Parts: sequence; C-alpha cells; structure tokens
Amino acid sequence: MALNIILLGPPGAGKGTQASRLVEERGMVQLSTGDMLRAAVAAGTEIGLKAKAVMAAGELVSDEIVDGILSARLDEDDIGRGFILDGYPRTAVQAASLDRLLAAKGLKLHHVIELEVDEDALVDRITGRFTCARCNTPYHDRYKLPQTPGVCDVCGSTEFKRRPDDNEEAVRTRMAEYRAKTAPILPHYQAQGIVRRVDGMATVDEVSAAIGAILDG
Ligand SMILES: [Zn+2]
Repeated sequence: MALNIILLGPPGAGKGTQASRLVEERGMVQLSTGDMLRAAVAAGTEIGLKAKAVMAAGELVSDEIVDGILSARLDEDDIGRGFILDGYPRTAVQAASLDRLLAAKGLKLHHVIELEVDEDALVDRITGRFTCARCNTPYHDRYKLPQTPGVCDVCGSTEFKRRPDDNEEAVRTRMAEYRAKTAPILPHYQAQGIVRRVDGMATVDEVSAAIGAILDG
C-alpha cells in the first residue's frame, strides 16, 4: 500500500537525505510546495499565472493558491506511489485544509515523522564541521581531523572550507525558526495519533532503518 507522510526535522537532522532515500528506495514522490509553485508558474497553468502575479508583486502566495496547486499535483498518476510532503502545512489552518483536500480525493496522511534532535548536540556537531575545498570530503574539529594535520586524507589538498552559517548562533536561530514553524501543526496531528518520532542524532543508516520500520510497521 502506498503511504503518504510528512517528514519534519530541523536543519542538520538529515531530513533531505532521508527524503531522497525514500524517493530512491521506495519510489515515493517528494512534494515540495516551492518546487510545485515553480513548476506551475513554468507550465503557465491558470493557477500558476495567478501565483506568478502575486510573487511578482512581492506578496506571499495565499493558502488558496497553494491548495490549488497541491490539488492539481495530487491528481497526477505518480501520487499512487505514496508521497512525502515537504514545507507544508505550516499552520493549523493549512493542516485542516490539507485534511479536507486529501479526504476529497480519497487520500490520507498515514504518518507525520519527526526527526528529533538534541539542540546542544546538534550545535556541537555542526559548529565543528568543515570540508576539503577540492574534493568535499567532510571533516570535524573534534571527531574527524585529517590524519596529517592540514592535509586532506583523500586528495592531498591543503585547502579547506567552512560554511559561514555553521556557528552556534546561526544553529540556535535555525532551531528556533524550526520550532516556530512546526509548533502550530504538531498538535493537529498528535490529536489524530499519527505523529511518530525518530532519533535524528543517530547515523543516517539508523535513521533510515527507523523510518523504514515505521513505514513497514
Ligand atoms: Zn580532498
């Protein structure tokens, strides 16, 4: 049976990686509202043109437009493989509207899977990371330094790079933004009994296995 899910997790929890794996390994379809909006605008559909005009005016696209675009997308054949909703809903009103939209199409959400992280551990993980500037091999100040200091194990490069937003303040800001975004919708799905929690601090394979167990459960 095709399963439809929402995957939630703060930046750094590996949500993107897990979503890609579900797409590759289970053939699920990832529905990102940003991608759907861009596709509708590019295709020049009636609702796409409406969205384009709103965005050109520098305004936020209304729930009505997002619902219209999502509704059209949900009518496509590949939805039968199961979908992962990404970036939507963000408010309780949108969550209720999504319930109605899915019910009207004979669809439902099976699981809302949240990758849980320990904020201090996440700060520790993110603030130490850096990569080889040439081959992108990942390193960490405390957990994985090159064997020869300053020289990449893989390609021998002596140039490394760090993302400017991998600092504690930025990580804590991203966490606060994430909480503000999800706090309004989690109670909606908790009331439906479909929220599942996975330890997002585990390895990528362990997280995949935990998500797999929920989907196959
Ligand atoms: Zn390298």
